[in-house]
Amino acid sequence: MQSKSKQKICIIGGGFGGLYTAIELNKLDKKREFEIILIDQNQHFLFTPLLYEAITGEISHWEIAPKFREILEKTTINFINQKVININFQEQIIYFQDNQYIDYNYAVLAVGQKSYFAIEGAEKFAHSFKTLEDVLRLEHKIEMLANSPEEKFNVTVVGAGANGVEIAGKITDKLKDKANVILVDRGQEILKNFPKGVQKCAWKSLQKRNVQIYLETNIDKIENHEIYFTDNLEQHYEIHVNLTLWTVGNATPEWIYKLNCSQDEQGKLLIKPTFQLFDFDNIFAIGDVTSFIDKKGQKVPAKAQAAFQGSHILAKNIIAFSQQKKLKLFRYHHLGDMMTIGINNDIVSVAGITISGFFASVIRKWAYIFRMPTFNHCLEVVKHRIFKG
Ligand SMILES: Cc1cc2nc3c(=O)[nH]c(=O)nc-3n(C[C@H](O)[C@H](O)[C@H](O)COP(=O)(O)OP(=O)(O)OC[C@H]3O[C@@H](n4cnc5c(N)ncnc54)[C@H](O)[C@@H]3O)c2cc1C
Repeated sequence: MQSKSKQKICIIGGGFGGLYTAIELNKLDKKREFEIILIDQNQHFLFTPLLYEAITGEISHWEIAPKFREILEKTTINFINQKVININFQEQIIYFQDNQYIDYNYAVLAVGQKSYFAIEGAEKFAHSFKTLEDVLRLEHKIEMLANSPEEKFNVTVVGAGANGVEIAGKITDKLKDKANVILVDRGQEILKNFPKGVQKCAWKSLQKRNVQIYLETNIDKIENHEIYFTDNLEQHYEIHVNLTLWTVGNATPEWIYKLNCSQDEQGKLLIKPTFQLFDFDNIFAIGDVTSFIDKKGQKVPAKAQAAFQGSHILAKNIIAFSQQKKLKLFRYHHLGDMMTIGINNDIVSVAGITISGFFASVIRKWAYIFRMPTFNHCLEVVKHRIFKG
C-alpha cells in the first residue's frame, strides 16, 4: 500500500514570527502528518532585544544568533537556506533567488521589515542596527574610533524611539569620555509610544550619561563626516560627525509589495485575526510584515512579543485549517516594556510599575534568556552565564 504523502507547510522567515511558529508546529504535529520547512536567507536566528548587549560585549554573538541547523537539530523541521523572491499563490510555488523553487500546501509569510533610509546620504554614510552584520560593522567602526588619536569624537543617533535611546546609552558606556553622543528626533519627546514612567527613567539615564538630546529637529542630509539639521525655529545647523547611527524607518521588502494580495499603504500584508491573508485561506502571515487588527480591534504592534504570542495561535490554526476545524482568533496582550540604557542599567515596566538600574537589568536579561527559541540553547546560555560569572 502506498503511504499518503505529507502536506507541506513552508514558513518563510525564521525570526520571532516564523521560527517560533515552526517550533510550535513541530510540537503539535505529534503524528508527523506534515512536512514542516523553514526557509531563511540567513543561517542564524537573531534575538534582537539583546542585540544592544553585543555593542558592549555583555553578550556573545552565539548567544543571540544561534545557527538554525543547531536550533532545529532535535526537531523534524527541514531548514532551507535560501532567499525567497516571489510566490505564486495560484500554483502554490515559492521561488528562490537562485532559480530554484518549492511547492507548498500551506505557507507562512514572516519576513519582517528592512531598514528604510529616508534622508539623502543616510544609506551610504549612516549605520543601521537591525542585523548581526550591522553589529559586526559597528563593532569594527567603534574599535577604529576607540583607537584613533582623536581625543573626542561625535556620534549622532538618529531617532529617539526605543532603538535610538538604547543604542545611545550603550555607545556612551562603551566609549565613555571619548564620545560626545547626540540623540536627534523630530518629535517632541523621546520614546513616544512608551508609558510616562519609562520615558522619565530613560531621560534621566541619558542625562546622567551626558547624551545631548535634540528634539523637534529634522535631519536634512548626512555626509561622511557632516550632518545637517533644521530645528523647530527653522534654524539650520551643521556638525562634524564621526559616526551616525540610523534607527528610524522600516520598509516592506519589494517582492512582498508586489504580491497580488491585500496590503496597506506601506505594503504590509492585511490579515484576519486568524493570521490568514484576506485573499488566500492557505496563506498565513505573522510579525512585522503584517498590518494586523486583533479580535478586540486593537492594532497589533510590530514587536517581538506580539510575534511570539501569535506564533502559538498561528501554529494551531494551520493544523485546524488542514483538518477543516474552526480557527482561533488572536488577541494581543501587552505584557509590559523592557529596555536597556547603558551597561547593567535597564528599565522594566509592568502593570504601571517601573523600575530601573541593576535589578531591572537582571530581570530583563533573564526574562529574555528564558525566551530563547529552544530549551537546549537556553541551557547553553544559562551555563555560559553562570560559569562566566
Ligand atoms: C535592535 C532591535 C531591538 C529590538 N528590541 C525589541 C524588544 O526589546 N522587544 C520587542 O518586542 N521587539 C523588539 N524589536 C522588534 C522585533 O525584533 C521585531 O518586532 C521582531 O523581530 C519581528 O519578528 P518577525 O518574525 O516579523 O521578523 P524578524 O524577526 O525580523 O525575522 C524575519 C526573518 O525573515 C528572514 N527573511 C527576510 N527576508 C527574507 C527572504 N526574502 N527570504 C528568506 N528569508 C527572509 C530574515 O533573515 C529574518 O530571519 C527589536 C528590533 C530591533 C532591530
